[in-house]
Amino acid sequence: MRAGRLAEPTDVPQRLDPLLAALTRHGITPEMPQDHGRAPALAVHAPGYLDYLATAYQRWQDLPNAGPEVLPNLSPYWNAVPGMQRPPCPSEAIIAQTGYYLGDLAVPLGPDSWISIIAASHVAASAADAVLSGAPASYALCRPSGHHARADRANGFCYVNNAAIAAQRLREKFARVAVLDVDAHHGDGTQEIFYARGDVLTVSMHADPKIYYPFFTGYEAERGHGEGAGANRNIPMPRGASDEDFHGAIDSALATIRAFGAEALILSLGFDSHRDDPIGILGVTTAGFGGVGRGIRQLGLPVVVVQEGGYQIEVIGDCLGAFLDGFVQG
Ligand SMILES: [Zn+2]
Repeated sequence: MRAGRLAEPTDVPQRLDPLLAALTRHGITPEMPQDHGRAPALAVHAPGYLDYLATAYQRWQDLPNAGPEVLPNLSPYWNAVPGMQRPPCPSEAIIAQTGYYLGDLAVPLGPDSWISIIAASHVAASAADAVLSGAPASYALCRPSGHHARADRANGFCYVNNAAIAAQRLREKFARVAVLDVDAHHGDGTQEIFYARGDVLTVSMHADPKIYYPFFTGYEAERGHGEGAGANRNIPMPRGASDEDFHGAIDSALATIRAFGAEALILSLGFDSHRDDPIGILGVTTAGFGGVGRGIRQLGLPVVVVQEGGYQIEVIGDCLGAFLDGFVQG
């Protein structure tokens, strides 16, 4: 739903084709992930939330006059205390749980949603395992994306937080892990999951939330809570931000990651900061993503790159190609 109308979806399966083609052009042969079950997702998500995602579509069918997809018609108020997890939904009713666990109208559940959601978590886990086994870098081609998924709530095309899963997995070997999110939208789910932790630094650069989704988070004043105080940083960028603005934000983010003493990095890589993105407001060019790759490589840390957004099918393959070229140059 957009502006009160049913809108054509932008996160379509065809997004994968140009991304896979870009890998092929760079001589990268994709591997299928191992089936890790729910364990990787359970490491960062509430069990009741995952139970809901796994079963909601079937339970929805029992409603009289059930529609073709699970969508909320309630949005319960929750006065978020930083670092405090919501209790499980107090009601067993599917309508109540759908309001509780689906945060907006961009996260419908259809018959195959859970298959994709859990598979994306396996992709992230397997990419992290490659780095745990000594690979200097890996790329997780996840769909759906994950960075808006909170510990117990789906939002903004995201259900399970693939970047958080990878970060948590890297903690098995690396004492301090950083997540850098360069998607056009604030990585609100990733921020929330690690907000009260000092072992995982989260840095997000994104279009100014005063004028762009997710609106309610992504401000500079959000710096973490408790043991996580100082381990969260937001870098809002103005409408139409250029490659120069984008690279300035990246340099600043990388300096924060160095100062934190990160031993490994997760990069949440979205291409919706591209100037041609249908839902974007930033002005980054295709070549601009080369600067991301260069900067990440020069940081010199083991890195798991996790695919997030980017909806202009004509450009996202070239964006990934520019990123990979930059990474090799770096
Ligand atoms: Zn995005």
